[in-house]
Amino acid sequence: MRLRNTETNAVQPLEPQSDPVRLYVCGITPYDTTHLGHAFTYVVFDVLVRVLRAAGQPVRYVQNVTDVDDDIIRRARELGTTWDHLADKETTLYADDMAALNVLAPDVFPRASQTIPKIIALIVKLEAQGHAYQRDGNVYFRVGSVADYGRLSRLSRTEMITLSAQRGADPDDPRKQDPLDFVLWQVSALGEPRWESPWGVGRPGWHIECSAMALEHLGPQVDVHGGGSDLIYPHHESEIAQSESATGMRPFARIWVHVGMLRYQGEKMSKSLRNLVLVRDLLPRYDADSIRVLLLRHHYREPWEYTPDQLDDAAAWTARLRAAASRTRNGMGDSALAVRAALEDDLDTSGALHVLEEAIDSGDRDWRAAAELLGLELSDPRLDHEEMKKALGWRAPFHNGGGS
Ligand SMILES: [Zn+2]
Repeated sequence: MRLRNTETNAVQPLEPQSDPVRLYVCGITPYDTTHLGHAFTYVVFDVLVRVLRAAGQPVRYVQNVTDVDDDIIRRARELGTTWDHLADKETTLYADDMAALNVLAPDVFPRASQTIPKIIALIVKLEAQGHAYQRDGNVYFRVGSVADYGRLSRLSRTEMITLSAQRGADPDDPRKQDPLDFVLWQVSALGEPRWESPWGVGRPGWHIECSAMALEHLGPQVDVHGGGSDLIYPHHESEIAQSESATGMRPFARIWVHVGMLRYQGEKMSKSLRNLVLVRDLLPRYDADSIRVLLLRHHYREPWEYTPDQLDDAAAWTARLRAAASRTRNGMGDSALAVRAALEDDLDTSGALHVLEEAIDSGDRDWRAAAELLGLELSDPRLDHEEMKKALGWRAPFHNGGGS
């Protein structure tokens, strides 16, 4: 497997190893799931996991749930519900949607709210090392204490300050020693999630949650760290600073893989812009194969704009392929290898779809193993939804540890 590493901008081999590949993917913030942009990200990593496992490479896949977050708190307030109730509900919906799309569950599906003691311990360590400081019950990461903050995003200091403000931070917070310093722990306002800590009652910042969950479940270094490209700065940049400072292990992630943003109606698909296409609204009309084909026709790194006719086109292509697959009888039986070769080349999913199409059209009986790598069934669904969820490893309900 070769993957383009955002940090070096080079295609880098992920050599076979006897230990499981340590894969960490930043998961959902459970309040606006599951839109097609989310589906693109998690289907891409699903294909990565399928290809590695098919090649005999064990994988330990951790995908977190960011259930302590400003957006959830705000959304719960709007809906007149509590943050943990909203997070539970949306996390279950997400698992339902993923199972419906034939996405394998991660091996570990940790929630920030259930990781609080580890998060606090990590902040205590960073403070003792001089990487963090406290002001009025808030704790900040001291960006000046690391030599190369900004090495992942390659943004200038001015660009980082502008972008951090757009993405929820407050560079003008007078308690900060530097506008780029970011929150590790903050005082909880009324009605917000809250936990006891050495700095008083509060809640963690976003970035430290992922460092703590990655360190807890995968150790001081991960092989592949993934997420949407909108997480490069400040989230992943800050994860690097926190994790490497705490452990002394460099690099925190051997390969950073970022999935391009999906646009719709001229804008990034997002709740705040009210231009969401939800998977659950598509599923009554389109099967999982068609939705996966729509997504996998795009290279994961490329941003693209969704239009509904693309989905109709993907559905027509999928229907034709399914009909052809039902007639295949003979053939060489090596299409799975060819599909795998395409996917091992920085996840060339559209190339892999072409190989699969040619194999089926030429009557290759090996098509089922090839389709499996892309997570396509190309036959009538064999299981009902609850059986499918179980088979894919999505175990509901996802209980919340709570803290309030
Ligand atoms: Zn994260």
